[in-house]
Amino acid sequence: MTANFYALVEARRPAEHEAPLLEADDGTVWSHRAIADLSGRIARALETGGANRGDRVAAQVDKSPEALALYLACLRSGLVYLPLNTAYQPAEIECFLGDAAPAVFVCRPESADVLHGAAKAARVRSMFTLDATGGGSLLDAAADRDPHFPTVEARPEDLAVLIYTSGTTGRSKGAMVTHGNLAANGEALVDAWGFTASDVLLHALPMFHIHGLFIATHCVLLAGARMLFHSRFEARQVLHDLPRATVFMGVPTFYTRLLAEEDFKAGAAPNVRLFVSGSAPLLIETFTAFEARTGRRILERYGMSESGIITSNPLDGERRGGTVGKPLRDVQVRIADGGDRLLEQGAVGGVQIRGPSVFKGYWNLPEKTREEFTADGWFRTGDVGCFDRDGYLSIVGRAKDLIITGGYNVYPKEIELELDALPGVAESAVIGVPHPDFGEAVTAVVVASPAARPDEAALIAALKSRLAGYKVPKRVVVVDDLPRNAMGKVQKNVLRERYGR
Ligand code: AMP
Repeated sequence: MTANFYALVEARRPAEHEAPLLEADDGTVWSHRAIADLSGRIARALETGGANRGDRVAAQVDKSPEALALYLACLRSGLVYLPLNTAYQPAEIECFLGDAAPAVFVCRPESADVLHGAAKAARVRSMFTLDATGGGSLLDAAADRDPHFPTVEARPEDLAVLIYTSGTTGRSKGAMVTHGNLAANGEALVDAWGFTASDVLLHALPMFHIHGLFIATHCVLLAGARMLFHSRFEARQVLHDLPRATVFMGVPTFYTRLLAEEDFKAGAAPNVRLFVSGSAPLLIETFTAFEARTGRRILERYGMSESGIITSNPLDGERRGGTVGKPLRDVQVRIADGGDRLLEQGAVGGVQIRGPSVFKGYWNLPEKTREEFTADGWFRTGDVGCFDRDGYLSIVGRAKDLIITGGYNVYPKEIELELDALPGVAESAVIGVPHPDFGEAVTAVVVASPAARPDEAALIAALKSRLAGYKVPKRVVVVDDLPRNAMGKVQKNVLRERYGR
């Protein structure tokens, strides 16, 4: 039997194929069959576009039912889907295309001209467009095709998705996620969170990140359930639709924004059986305020691109604020010191994991992959945490200084490299400081070069043209020098204390 993840999706489709899978913003209802047929037609268009099994298909597209069908088309054709954040700027896209060498690149019509050069340089065979309403050359190419497309055989270890998670060294790393990884995590989540065919998920997450693409969508697909598919998170719109939903998933920022709405109260979500939060730490204040307001406890879970979900608070049983719960079925979690020695229960150390959902390694980076796995095969997550006496894990920090702002990861090194290249900047340090809405806000501390003193607004403007908006510092502070330790390393903890208020 094939291990193609799409075959599992097909097997779990409701017997009634006309059952709704999703309802779009404009009220259009797409059945399981309609999405499957569209994915079959797109699979044929990709084939004609020169994509062969194992090739990458990169996509920087808006969230839409058609974009979901594109993802499914890649899975069923044995192509490797490479989702790209819609906020990425051309210079960033050029890096990803150069590294992944996709056979096909799908982008928004408005960015086709500016990205054409990057696609050509990366030797992309075919470029298609897809807009937020399903228009564009991809759908034109798929229009009259046969929707019946036989799902390609795949082994569990075959690549399904390549998802970029930049590294602290400044170089982006493509996490290679396999068909086996997707199946293992998807099945475990349906079980852990009790998904059934009668669930209605309110899906307001982006589709270029594992939270919206894998976690939320796979639970729905594998349960034969359905979703209210919002193109973006908008608190009023979410409030409007919540009464029709049974599950809601979000990053912590979604919850702070909902709480900011006065009419978000106990009665606002009468049928929601489960609120899930993840991708960044949920502040205990938010967890408590949510319970006080609605009488419900948010279920917090912890995961990453390299492994899907690792731990989750229980569906039945106590959900503990400030913790990310217990290891998911089949996932093993241990806490180790810098030398990979196991620490005693309760001690704080590096979180290491093992299990069928752990990725295959970093694309084109065998050396980096070897570095991130221990000799006995555990993956070093880079997160720092500890288990309490009852087996609940708390994440207390991040070894790699990652900043998470509004649920998006920002690696300081990337921003520092951009800043250092700007006139008037001698060196820089980028940190995350607490922010009531985004969780953390990107802040840059810059040392002026002897020749000229840079201007905050000019630096921010220069970065805006080079980086996705969420990576651009909210604030730039110009200083004479950076605090350093005896080894000459910049003391970011000192900076966080100084500028964190
Ligand atoms: P990503 O690969 O973009 O999903 O980012 C993964 C990182 O997000 C993890 O390594 C953690 O640092 C962080 N993360 C995810 N969920 C949580 C959570 N519930 N609490 C704290 N950090 C989290």
